[in-house]
Amino acid sequence: MTSTVPELTLNSGYRIPQLGLGVFLVPQDEAQRVVTDALEVGYRHIDNAAVYRNEEGVGRALAESGIARDELFITTKLWNTEQGSDAPRPALEESLEKLGLDYVDLYLIHWPAPQRDLYVESWQALEQLRDEGLVRSIGVSNFEPEHLDRLAEHSSVIPAVNQVELHPALQQRELRGVQEPRGILTEAWGPLGQAKYALEEMPGLSEIATKHSKTLPQVILRWHIQEGVIVFPKTTKKERLKENFEVFDFELDASDMAAMKAMDQGMRVGTHPNEGNW
Ligand code: NDP
Repeated sequence: MTSTVPELTLNSGYRIPQLGLGVFLVPQDEAQRVVTDALEVGYRHIDNAAVYRNEEGVGRALAESGIARDELFITTKLWNTEQGSDAPRPALEESLEKLGLDYVDLYLIHWPAPQRDLYVESWQALEQLRDEGLVRSIGVSNFEPEHLDRLAEHSSVIPAVNQVELHPALQQRELRGVQEPRGILTEAWGPLGQAKYALEEMPGLSEIATKHSKTLPQVILRWHIQEGVIVFPKTTKKERLKENFEVFDFELDASDMAAMKAMDQGMRVGTHPNEGNW
């Protein structure tokens, strides 16, 4: 594992690099190049999903890098249409084949999809796949407290993470207060707000960036790290891959952290967890 990126310990005992690369909306024919660039910069953690339709490209980059498997941390996710008791196994096997891997480090239920109402069965299927060694740690994504409670009623296995939308305008304090005391780490998707709002307009952000001679995205990513959140910004550009990785040579102070906290507006830029029933 590269020495600059801090690691957190999951409730499974495995360790996860706190900074990685997300590959949502990276086209299949660009995925190999982007992941190769990221590995060159020093990234070792890739956040993928079956529905991103680029697992083969990611897998080719991993294979050709020559980097030892145990230095990599690879996540992929179970798509809604594959939920239930039986479908997760072939879905994971297909992801593994595309990625060219024997196991993934982390497998997530992508959305609770409450209208399908299959996430409890899916969770039990993931437990089995974990027991068989096809995945090291299992977790969830876009789960609200009621979904976490329901899993806890039916299973003693606590999700290693809950991956949710989280950025300065949506800080998820309430949800984090529910999940983190239970041992569920928080992963941030859309950590830069998916470029859907102007970072310059976040009050005080530019001043913090100037103070530390850093860019606005670097300040935001540093804030995630200091919050104890796992983060994997997406970019297809090598310069930005480097920029997003250079967040370990400065530290936000208490007043910076307080100013960041005050940016919370409870503003989603993506789909509400209960609406992701595709
Ligand atoms: P991000 O918040 O990472 O934002 C990505 C956008 O920011 C892109 O438009 C990118 O543009 C731009 N960007 C990245 N770095 C910089 C920079 N340094 N300066 C300026 N612009 C920048 O959004 P994502 O939705 O991609 O979230 C990250 C990851 O989270 C995803 O890739 C995916 O792995 C995961 N995710 C999970 C979801 C879930 O339901 N579980 C939902 C959504 C995302 P460009 O590429 O042109 O550089």
